[in-house]
Amino acid sequence: PTILALRGVTKTYGTGDLQVHALRGIDLEVPEGDFLAITGPSGSGKSTLMHILGCLDIPSEGTYELAGEDVSQMSESELAQVRNREIGFVFQQFNLLQSQSALRNVELPLVYAGVGRAERQERAVEALRRVGLGDRLDHRPTQLSGGQQQRVSVARALVTDPAMILADEPTGNLDSVATQDVLQLFHELHDQGRTVVVITHEPDVAAQASHAVRIRDGQLFTETSAA
Ligand code: ADP
Repeated sequence: PTILALRGVTKTYGTGDLQVHALRGIDLEVPEGDFLAITGPSGSGKSTLMHILGCLDIPSEGTYELAGEDVSQMSESELAQVRNREIGFVFQQFNLLQSQSALRNVELPLVYAGVGRAERQERAVEALRRVGLGDRLDHRPTQLSGGQQQRVSVARALVTDPAMILADEPTGNLDSVATQDVLQLFHELHDQGRTVVVITHEPDVAAQASHAVRIRDGQLFTETSAA
């Protein structure tokens, strides 16, 4: 089954002479359980596409179906609900709360989802175990390496059991060892049947996904498959 499908998606910013066509007719179908990389140079439209895939914004034209639901005409509040239910975000900057433990950081999406305390803890511990951090529950981000912090954010992305993990430049702040570490983790998730979409300007990172598409001037091109 298809987990997400974009059809004829465009995104235009501004009006009149100042119009920027950031996306120019994107067609993309991602089967459930795929490990897809979206790559492209600066200014090509990656962030714009990430915002649409992540239900942070809607297309100017075209449709976006996520987990069987057309989200391309939704209001802000409807989008927020879909986002929280279906998408686990991983960011370049980790976006962890510095004053909170790894466990608490991973629990947070469940707090927003209204999950009770005991179940929250249980699921957060399980997610941290799954990323190999079962022995770092009480550590704060500053007490963890960059690679470990990114693992915490992957656990936070997983804990709600989303339809898709959406990672925006997830290795951009990591050295090569930690980069491999996080990519290995994505491979494990992929092997377990998770859908993982990684947006990156790093060709080396894109080459390690199962499939890669390249965006240039707001248009998608298919790359040869690697792994
Ligand atoms: P990338 O993430 O690949 O660097 P972006 O999606 O950020 O690319 O940008 C694609 C194009 O859209 C660029 O020309 C950029 O200047 C333009 N753009 C992005 N966001 C906005 C915005 N909010 N308003 C106007 N133009 C924008």
